[in-house]
Amino acid sequence: MEWLYARIEGEIVITALRKYLAAWFEEAGYQAVSPSLDARFAVVDRKSNWSERHVAFAAGLGTFSLNRSLITRAGAAGRIGSIIVSAVIEPTPRAYQAFDEYCSKCGACIKRCPPQAIDDNGKDNAVCSAFLDTTLARFKPRYGCGKCQTAVPCEATAPV
Ligand code: SF4
Repeated sequence: MEWLYARIEGEIVITALRKYLAAWFEEAGYQAVSPSLDARFAVVDRKSNWSERHVAFAAGLGTFSLNRSLITRAGAAGRIGSIIVSAVIEPTPRAYQAFDEYCSKCGACIKRCPPQAIDDNGKDNAVCSAFLDTTLARFKPRYGCGKCQTAVPCEATAPV
């Protein structure tokens, strides 16, 4: 249940923060855009043309896991927002090479997934999405699962 609120109410907070930061940079004289709030943002067949997780990976914040969530130094089960600005900012060093370097492949998330959408090769998005639809029917307007991201014990190997 906490995950459902984090997903919906948490996203409201992140959206407010995106807008605040974009306005702050614009007032400081830079160009700024939050891609996921932009009119060009689109989701087709559950695939979006902007991914906060991929931006986080590129920005050095963490790597993907077997269940395709992001593992950071603070752990998993986080929510991410991004803005693009014209300001020159010193980049965070990217402390990894492989896309899934912080995942130990311990399999804890495989065991936790209700519809068995995860296996040793990754996540079947269609199976996961179909399960999420069932949660919307129960908890509308909220929906979500997140059991793979809160798997305990999860032996993620992100350096602290
Ligand atoms: S969100 Fe739920 S259904 Fe989807 S992969 Fe994770 S545990 Fe499985």
